Amino acid sequence: MKRPRFLFALALAVGFGLPLAPGYSQKKTESVLIMGALIADGTGAPLYKGNVRVALSHIVGIGELQPEPGEPTIDAKGLVLAPGFIDIHSHSEETLPKDLAAETQVSQGITTLIVGADGDSPWPVLHWIRLMQDHPAAVNVGVFAGHATIREQVLGDDFKRASTGPEIRQMEQRISQAMNQGALGLSSGLEYEVGSYAGTDELVALAKVAAREGGIYMTHIRDEADKSFEALNEEIAIGERAHIPVEHSHIKLGTVGVQGKAAEYIKIIEEARKRGVDILADCYPYDAWHANLKVVVPDKQYENPKSVATALASYGGGSHLTITEFSPNPSYAGHTIADLAKANKISEVEMYIRLIREGDAAQTEAVIIGQSMLESDIKAFYQQPWVMVASDGGVGSEHPRGAGTFPRVLGVYVRERHWLTLPEAVRKMTSLPAQRLGWKDRGIIREGTFADLVLLNPDTVIDRSTYANPTALATGIEKVFVNGMLVWDAGKPTGARPGFVIGRKGVALEVSN
Ligand SMILES: [Zn+2]
Repeated sequence: MKRPRFLFALALAVGFGLPLAPGYSQKKTESVLIMGALIADGTGAPLYKGNVRVALSHIVGIGELQPEPGEPTIDAKGLVLAPGFIDIHSHSEETLPKDLAAETQVSQGITTLIVGADGDSPWPVLHWIRLMQDHPAAVNVGVFAGHATIREQVLGDDFKRASTGPEIRQMEQRISQAMNQGALGLSSGLEYEVGSYAGTDELVALAKVAAREGGIYMTHIRDEADKSFEALNEEIAIGERAHIPVEHSHIKLGTVGVQGKAAEYIKIIEEARKRGVDILADCYPYDAWHANLKVVVPDKQYENPKSVATALASYGGGSHLTITEFSPNPSYAGHTIADLAKANKISEVEMYIRLIREGDAAQTEAVIIGQSMLESDIKAFYQQPWVMVASDGGVGSEHPRGAGTFPRVLGVYVRERHWLTLPEAVRKMTSLPAQRLGWKDRGIIREGTFADLVLLNPDTVIDRSTYANPTALATGIEKVFVNGMLVWDAGKPTGARPGFVIGRKGVALEVSN
């Protein structure tokens, strides 16, 4: 409950007593007392009642605190106060700089976005870091170095092969450079075009460099379909051989052949964890994925009718695959491959091949949503203590997970279905991702931690985004603080942009020149 004296003196000097709302504007030097909230402290401990004082960017007191003379207060009775949510898998590297308010994220209670997932990252990462330092967002950010991004630089267009020893050395240098610039680790996307040609040894070599610098390995594994188990074993081997903490991105069992096998999948991860492999995973709360058309055909024989037929069947047929974006023919958006085949009086296989050809001619690929996961597998994954919540969406996402993930877990999986307790769900959104990133002073409500905070209504919090309207804002998130500044209040952004670029130590990276 101690409170640095200088803060109070400073606060008196600038003057207290501003009403909080409406028209509340908070100066950096003021403290605020949040009163009467039920605190979900991020550790998974039961909720408890208390007052929390925020000053400058930190939590400076918790307990039965009383307001200082003239100190602004927030009446939080009936609300839950949680640490700000950390989205460890956000596809916002391009969209956030154009939309610094990030309303679809802040309205969910997200206070930190981690970008550079699935092997694709800004490059050099330093340029992106500087961009976000020069133009801060409403939320904090952190960035991974992408394996495919690095691989493409070294191999150029000739990436459809294994790399040579000298090429691996060059890639090692680049990952080392990115780590020095502030990257959080190495990300890979081994189901995608460039990353898929990398052998395990290449990944181990690069992961070792990230490990040496204190980074982690975050991976979209080689297969989330029929070969999910082989891909999982490769991921564990990489973690074990490179001695690096592993984040398994968007854990799922995505085809008919592996559906319902969550228990087996979990057992393999549990056994690895018992051997000392530090592997955690994240999961989004939807039974449909979002990717490019080519991921559907694992043998890459995109125009081979037999391969395509097998692939479509593994997802339950073309009716499970909906186009969301296709620039050569925008009218396809919103339709399934089955619908398009019917309309064109051709088979689903022929329709798939037509989409591939039209896309290749225009040097693009259709973006699709595939509905092929089982709720029972999602439930089993979420009930593991090592599985956290992450969106795999982001600013401007075409999948409802971009705007709905966190409130959906709280509203549907906690309140309606009782899959998780509220404190445990909050832990999966806060201290667990912070632990994965090695951040000690975020993701937890404790005196001295950063004041990234969410005040939410546990009775009403819910996602509103849908496949038809993927950016509809969630409700029930009442207030959001980032580094002590109010960025979301009563359903609206405040306009504040206090977000830091955070490095491996969990604090703002220094602004470099
Ligand atoms: Zn991915």
